[in-house]
Parts: sequence; C-alpha cells; structure tokens
Amino acid sequence: MKITINEECIACEQCVEICPEIFSMGDETAEVTGDEVPEEYQESCREAAEECPAEAIIIEE
Ligand code: SF4
Repeated sequence: MKITINEECIACEQCVEICPEIFSMGDETAEVTGDEVPEEYQESCREAAEECPAEAIIIEE
C-alpha cells in the first residue's frame, strides 16, 4: 500500500489523530511517513482516508 496526500488537504490533522505512525503535519498539508505502509497500519490508513473531510488521502493498494 502506498499513500499520497493531494493538494485538497485542509490541514485538519484528523488523519494524524487516527494514525500517527503514518501521518504527520507538514507546513501546509499532512505528510506520509515512509514509502510502503506496513501491514499493521493499513486498516487505520483506510479509515483515515474514509474520514478525511477533503478526500485528500489517495491510497494505492
Ligand atoms: S484528514 Fe485529510 S484534510 Fe485533514 S490533515 Fe489529513 S489529509 Fe489533510
């Protein structure tokens, strides 16, 4: 699984609250830690993508 954050991100920090192991806040948008998401965090990443109010989290399975 790979994740990107697009420019729609409104920096609400919700994804960081849901999965701080993978998401962090950059200057203006959220950022993703690492390249490939480890298996153990994939479910919470999917949840973060579903919950993102800006639909800014793009998941590639
Ligand atoms: S939940 Fe979505 S809008 Fe909010 S910080 Fe994360 S990527 Fe950005």
